[in-house]
Amino acid sequence: MNVLKEQKLDLVVIGTGMAGAAAAVFAANRGLTTAQVGETGEIIFASGYLDLLGVHPPENGRILSDPWVGLVQLARDEPDHPLARLAPDIIRTALDEFFRFLEASGLPYRRDAKKNAQVLTPLGTTKPTYAAPETMWAGVKALQDQQPCLLIDIRGLRGFSARQIAAVWDTRWPKLRTVTIDFPGSDHLTELYTETMARQLEQPQNLAELAARIKPHLKDAVVVGLPAILGVRNSLAVAAALAEQLAVPVFEIPTMPPGVPGLRLRDTFSENIAQLGVSLYREKRVQAVRPESDGAFVLTIADHAGEEMIHAWRVLLAGGRFLGKGLQADQAGIREPLFGLPVYQPLSRREWHRHYFLDPRGHAVNRAGLETDQRMRPLGEKGTPVFRNLYAAGSILAHQDWMRRKCGSGLAIATAYAAVEAIKMDG
Ligand SMILES: Cc1cc2nc3c(=O)[nH]c(=O)nc-3n(C[C@H](O)[C@H](O)[C@H](O)COP(=O)(O)OP(=O)(O)OC[C@H]3O[C@@H](n4cnc5c(N)ncnc54)[C@H](O)[C@@H]3O)c2cc1C
Repeated sequence: MNVLKEQKLDLVVIGTGMAGAAAAVFAANRGLTTAQVGETGEIIFASGYLDLLGVHPPENGRILSDPWVGLVQLARDEPDHPLARLAPDIIRTALDEFFRFLEASGLPYRRDAKKNAQVLTPLGTTKPTYAAPETMWAGVKALQDQQPCLLIDIRGLRGFSARQIAAVWDTRWPKLRTVTIDFPGSDHLTELYTETMARQLEQPQNLAELAARIKPHLKDAVVVGLPAILGVRNSLAVAAALAEQLAVPVFEIPTMPPGVPGLRLRDTFSENIAQLGVSLYREKRVQAVRPESDGAFVLTIADHAGEEMIHAWRVLLAGGRFLGKGLQADQAGIREPLFGLPVYQPLSRREWHRHYFLDPRGHAVNRAGLETDQRMRPLGEKGTPVFRNLYAAGSILAHQDWMRRKCGSGLAIATAYAAVEAIKMDG
């Protein structure tokens, strides 16, 4: 067992999802010596769209065109919501810093800073989002102006159907057409996978062949939509090259998860966070944490190859919910397994869910999580921080149901920022 006792880091971030990744970026930007530990988490399921606040109040499904106005309403209606506890300026600054990181890492996002965009889902419905990868942005205008548009179906690809999208829009988007083509080199295959296709399209000859197969069907189309398969590593360049060959803008639409946009985020984080100087323990878990008398922690990190220990002054827990295993549920209730922190939750399991799955009021279990003080430190039964040097961020936090409010990434990034700012000040 390798015990790194001699090096006490400023911070260990537990979690490599959106909250953990954002926290690692913010910590590195502030010069904190940082390690990050985690398995892939929910990020692999991400559509690529980055939501801030799309719906409020969710009971009547009100779609927000302006997330900033929505945040003011949220603060009034639900002051305990983690986004409601942060000043809008803090949220804005957090997002700006995070987008600068993505841009510098080769995965630029586009947004209209003042309002949400309406974007297409793989089912052909729309959803409000705050920002979208550059490779998806031409779709926002195409949808808004109902431009003459050609959507591409690829034979053998599951989890995406241009024909279904067109059927949903029908007469509401009269100049939306679809065509089904064979993917270059797929003649002998009955089933295709988005990651493999995306990697193949990074080869210029495959991209040129795809363009050649689309071109005869362009006709009056001024924009072309495809499933999100335009490269894993350098999607911007792949999309630009295809647009040039077709002589019209192109845009991607997310496929059903897991998909390529989630892979891009995962790889962008793991490659570029390491370049910022963060020690990354990828696909590993923190098995145990031992608090020390001086307020620091010793963390045991393990994978199939063995154990390692790291020593840090502060820990930021961004372990996610049930999928990431930051929270666990059993007959006794919902637990936070690593530190044994109290979890805000309904008094009994019977109250977790309402009778109807689609009840517009949502389910109490989805609002379970950690309560924190204003410095993002998890609270104990007495309402004071359990550990003075432990912080939390992301979907593990209580009093939020990010899926219904469409606020997943915004909540993760803004709370990570607030936690790292507190850590920097406390340091
Ligand atoms: C299907 C799906 C679609 C989504 N679509 C969108 C979307 O369109 N727009 C949007 O904004 N957001 C979307 N999201 C949400 C978003 O991607 C984030 O997942 C969400 O905001 C929560 O992020 P998180 O970092 O808090 O948690 P997670 O992403 O769950 O990350 C938790 C991390 O903690 C790690 N962890 C837990 N315990 C330990 C431990 N003991 N040791 C080490 N590591 C540990 C896990 O391995 C994981 O890395 C979607 C999520 C899903 C599931």
